[in-house]
Amino acid sequence: MTEKSCLFCRIMAAEISSDKVGESDDALAFRDVDPKAPTHVLVIPKVHVPTLPELAASHPEAALAVLTLARQVAEDDGVGDAYRLVCNNGADAGQSVFHAHVHVLGGRPLAWPPG
Ligand code: AMP
Repeated sequence: MTEKSCLFCRIMAAEISSDKVGESDDALAFRDVDPKAPTHVLVIPKVHVPTLPELAASHPEAALAVLTLARQVAEDDGVGDAYRLVCNNGADAGQSVFHAHVHVLGGRPLAWPPG
C-alpha cells in the first residue's frame, strides 16, 4: 500500500534517491537530507500510514519493525549507547511528511526539553 504523492513512498520506490542505511521486510532507513545531528536517520514503515501511533494500531508488526530497525541503525552508526528517537505527530508538533517515521538522532549531546 503506497501513495503516489507521498515523498517517503517515492523514496521507497527509488523514484527519489536517498542515502539508504538499512532495511528489513517491513521498514526502511535512510539519512535525513537536512541532518540535525551527526547521526540523523529516518526509519519508515513500508506501508503508508500517516503517523506512527496509527501504524501501531493498524499494523503493529510494522511499528515493531520500525523500532527494531531504529535500534539497529543507532548501533551501526556507533551511537547505540546514547541516541534519541523522535516522532512528530501532527503539523503543530513539527510533522512535515505524513508517512509514519522515527528520527534517529545521535552523535552529539541532546538537550532536554526539546523545542
Ligand atoms: P518530520 O518533519 O518529522 O515530518 O520529518 C520529515 C523529515 O524528512 C525532515 O527532517 C526532512 O529534513 C526530511 N526529508 C525531507 N525530504 C527528504 C528527502 N528527500 N530525503 C531525506 N529526508 C528528507
